[in-house]
Amino acid sequence: MSKIARRQFIQLSAVAAAGCMLRPGQEAQAQDMPKVEESDSMAQAMKYTHDASTVDASARANPASEQHCSNCALVQGEDGQEWRPCQIFPGKVVSAKGWCSVWAPKA
Ligand code: SF4
Repeated sequence: MSKIARRQFIQLSAVAAAGCMLRPGQEAQAQDMPKVEESDSMAQAMKYTHDASTVDASARANPASEQHCSNCALVQGEDGQEWRPCQIFPGKVVSAKGWCSVWAPKA
């Protein structure tokens, strides 16, 4: 096992162990979760931004101005929350005013 793979295994094991310590009903609440950093490699790969109004309209399908995290099919949590969990960024929250390149309309 390479050094990187061993390190990733240890990190994932620690996350799994922490998850096992949670009892039912103690799921992390959005307000307790860290915010996605725009500088995160995953965020950069997805072109995530906290402010959808800063995105070049040509990078989005029309109607670009109507695409933001709070109306994306992948957002979780409750309507009206400023920061909400997202299926693309497990364990973190995204800005309701944010956007990324995998935005999808709610059904
Ligand atoms: Fe926002 Fe949707 Fe991208 Fe998640 S998948 S960051 S909710 S646009």
